[in-house]
Amino acid sequence: MIIAIDGPAAAGKGTLARRLADHFGLAILDTGLLYRAVGMNLVRQGGDPEDAVAAADVARALRPQDLAADDLRTDAAADAASRVSAVPAVRQALLEFQRAFAENPPDIGSGAAKGAILDGRDIGTVVCPDADYKLFITAAVEVRAERRFFELRERGLDAIHGRVLTDMKERDARDSDRAVSPLVPAKDALQLDTSEMDADQAFDAALRFINSENK
Ligand code: C5P
Repeated sequence: MIIAIDGPAAAGKGTLARRLADHFGLAILDTGLLYRAVGMNLVRQGGDPEDAVAAADVARALRPQDLAADDLRTDAAADAASRVSAVPAVRQALLEFQRAFAENPPDIGSGAAKGAILDGRDIGTVVCPDADYKLFITAAVEVRAERRFFELRERGLDAIHGRVLTDMKERDARDSDRAVSPLVPAKDALQLDTSEMDADQAFDAALRFINSENK
């Protein structure tokens, strides 16, 4: 079983992916972490995330342990990720890792996984176009910025509300307008707007869709 979850930042993809993974016994891959790790490895080397050649070299050299770096959840990492992710050779280098995970998911706490769930921007369209179930999760940009603002505050990080909203809009525009693998819903995806839903409601809606597909 393969589930693809796509959508913009802070729409609720990660929470939904974790709940579905627990429910169905699936291994989970947050593909944004791969792009964040490439962006931060490049920045740490003193490189420029807009430098396509350097970004591709860093992506090809990425190691699984790089995904454990403790600065990958910062807004600086999100910004670097959204720049390196526009480079076709970076996407190509990360494609194999993502497909291998989907095809051969690692064991989970309770034993062998029954499949995989990947969340990102192009899972249903490019990485796993044959996924059994595709979900496209959105929410109004103001709602997403508000969620991100409180999340940053809760983690004890400094955040300015207006700045979070501006950054979110810029990142949305970069993800949606780029030439390769832009953020678009797959034709066969369930589109779920979580602006007025809590995590339980989003989970119930996703579950109803999956159960109604009769696969
Ligand atoms: O999902 P997350 O916010 O961690 O992703 C960080 C950035 O990585 C996104 O803004 C996007 O530019 C890029 N990304 C991508 N394709 C994916 C996952 C993330 O381009 N499948």
